Amino acid sequence: MTVKPVHIIGGGLAGSEAAWQIARHGVPAVLHEMRPTRSTAVHKTGQLAELVCSNSFRSDDAEASAIGLLHAEMRRLDSLVMRAADAHKLPAGGALAVDREGFAAAITAALEREPLIEIRREEVLSLPPEWDSVIVATGPLTSPALAEAIGALTGESALAFFDAIAPIVHRETIDFDIAWFQSRYDKAGPAGSGADYINCPLTRAQYEDFVAALLAGDKIEFRDFETATPYFDGCLPIEVMAERGRETLRHGPMKPFGLTDPRHPTKKPYAVVQLRQDNKLGTLFNMVGFQTKLKHGEQGRIFRTIPGLANAEFARLGGLHRNTFLNSPKLLDATLRLKAMPRLRFAGQITGCEGYVESAAIGLLAGSFAAAERHGEEPRLPPPTTAHGALIGHITGGHVEMIDSGPRSFQPMNINFGLFPPLRHGGARDSKKPALCARALADLDAWIAAALPHAAE
Ligand SMILES: Cc1cc2nc3c(=O)[nH]c(=O)nc-3n(C[C@H](O)[C@H](O)[C@H](O)COP(=O)(O)OP(=O)(O)OC[C@H]3O[C@@H](n4cnc5c(N)ncnc54)[C@H](O)[C@@H]3O)c2cc1C
Repeated sequence: MTVKPVHIIGGGLAGSEAAWQIARHGVPAVLHEMRPTRSTAVHKTGQLAELVCSNSFRSDDAEASAIGLLHAEMRRLDSLVMRAADAHKLPAGGALAVDREGFAAAITAALEREPLIEIRREEVLSLPPEWDSVIVATGPLTSPALAEAIGALTGESALAFFDAIAPIVHRETIDFDIAWFQSRYDKAGPAGSGADYINCPLTRAQYEDFVAALLAGDKIEFRDFETATPYFDGCLPIEVMAERGRETLRHGPMKPFGLTDPRHPTKKPYAVVQLRQDNKLGTLFNMVGFQTKLKHGEQGRIFRTIPGLANAEFARLGGLHRNTFLNSPKLLDATLRLKAMPRLRFAGQITGCEGYVESAAIGLLAGSFAAAERHGEEPRLPPPTTAHGALIGHITGGHVEMIDSGPRSFQPMNINFGLFPPLRHGGARDSKKPALCARALADLDAWIAAALPHAAE
């Protein structure tokens, strides 16, 4: 009996990995890639899996870094992206950097050689009803016609916008001798307790120094193609607000009203920075209203001057760039299918992960889920303790939608330890990372072994 192909739209990091995994599972795939016929604002070549910016896959340390752990897991899952990266790596200390041309050429050649994969160089403008299994992996620069078709299906008002990203801080690095939990005026809101925010108080002198540092800080300039895209929900970067007047932030995201430090009930702070819970585990908190164009090094330096954040570690720094991504926790099911139209599955950055490796990892999962379905099997989710499980958990369910009314808060994120379920026995911060990594790899191995009962016999 002929097996119908899975259609993959987009031959970037995620789509290439998805096609490879589908073929590995003995299922045919058609990979539709619009380049070189039509390009995006940042791609330069017609190669599959082109790296659009840096050539780094970040740390390769599988014992103490979440991204290194993701590398290790992908290698165990026979990832084509990792195979090509390892074959074309360059000296870069503890990081895995690749020769971008060799890397993309290796992926393109491997997919072109694979008999179960057909590559069609064409832009997909809509989602043909006869394609009964589709993976959309068109990335942050999805072509406008397809973005519109997806937008119509999801019913969301916007799919491509400047996402104004605020930094996210690991809760355990916040100093609670200074900060305290309280919601403004102790309001509980629809899903809160009245003490949902972490508050960092500033005196007048600290506030003025902070505003001066923002004004002087080094900022990233917009690229040409970005200037035509509107700000997401009208969010302004904090440094733009600071330029409008020294008091503007104090009447915006840093307003102190309705907040009292229980240890100093009579001493009112001049300004307050609030952090809001970002994941269900309660390990990550985002800095409310702190979207910024400051360069990453500057963010670390300036934000650590905020009382309570002197030792803050950031799971993600802020930024502003054009992006296309779904409100996945609301729209996708646990195996990345659009709830409203399950024949469509999404993969890569469009689902709300961030980064080359993360995009490829989600492509890997989407490909294996789609292949399992073609074999009439239930897709198997990776354990939540693995990097793959933590990442898909963030995308499809781990996020707090919102505590109070306001814009949607789901934002693309790199893999980081804050997305993993905490260890049962806690421990010192330094020993936690190796323990989380060891747990992840052991659980991944057990998961792989369970999928291959005959191999173990
Ligand atoms: C400007 C910019 C810089 C970035 N820099 C980095 C970085 O330095 N490091 C990092 O880790 N991450 C970076 N990212 C984030 C992200 O990791 C990459 O964008 C990554 O390539 C995402 O992988 P993907 O497979 O989801 O999308 P992509 O790799 O972009 O692949 C999507 C593919 O779909 C194709 N496509 C789009 N629409 C259609 C259509 N309608 N029909 C057919 N094909 C279509 C595109 O041509 C493209 O090949 C950057 C993102 C942007 C926008």
